[in-house]
Amino acid sequence: MMKIQEMNKVDIVYKILAAMGAFFIMIGLTVSAIFTAIEGVSVFALIPMLFVVIGIGFVLGVAIQKNKKRKILRKGKKYAAKIYGYVKDTSILVNGSYPTNVKVHYFDEKHVEREAIIPTGFPTGSSQYAIGMTMDIYEYKGKYSWDPASVRNEVLKGEAELMDDKPVEPEKLNLIAVNCPNCGSSFQAAKGYASKCPYCGGYINA
Ligand SMILES: [Zn+2]
Repeated sequence: MMKIQEMNKVDIVYKILAAMGAFFIMIGLTVSAIFTAIEGVSVFALIPMLFVVIGIGFVLGVAIQKNKKRKILRKGKKYAAKIYGYVKDTSILVNGSYPTNVKVHYFDEKHVEREAIIPTGFPTGSSQYAIGMTMDIYEYKGKYSWDPASVRNEVLKGEAELMDDKPVEPEKLNLIAVNCPNCGSSFQAAKGYASKCPYCGGYINA
């Protein structure tokens, strides 16, 4: 029996940030109301409003991030991909540990094998699903998302090719210059593969 975690770490962080935002807004409004009740309308009532502004910033930030994720699912191209492995994203720290992301292999629309890291944000060290399972991924402008409900045991056509660990022939690699989305460093990466940034340890899907 497989254990499926409903919420990943990143979602939990979003929840905490949104709750903090709501709390800040509430405190700001309450204190501001108390000031106004005691002093009447004065500039002092504006000071707690600073909390409201910070709170709105938190809530807005979470909404923007969530919307980005939804946009990939809505507008992105869907592929059935094989879970090939797990990588630890050492570029961000979530609750004091590094999140684990899924490495997938899939065929793109030209039937070219591709590799990508899907930002699943599982707790450190977890391999939520067995290697070789199939999942639906969505790609939109080079960014990836996935559907947790889609993870299944389906056998894909040509999946032996996707799952083998063939040595990559250097002459087949198409090296391109990339900028790390995390730290901004530029380095060379093989197109169609996931690469680890040598500077910060973050992953990029080239
Ligand atoms: Zn980097």
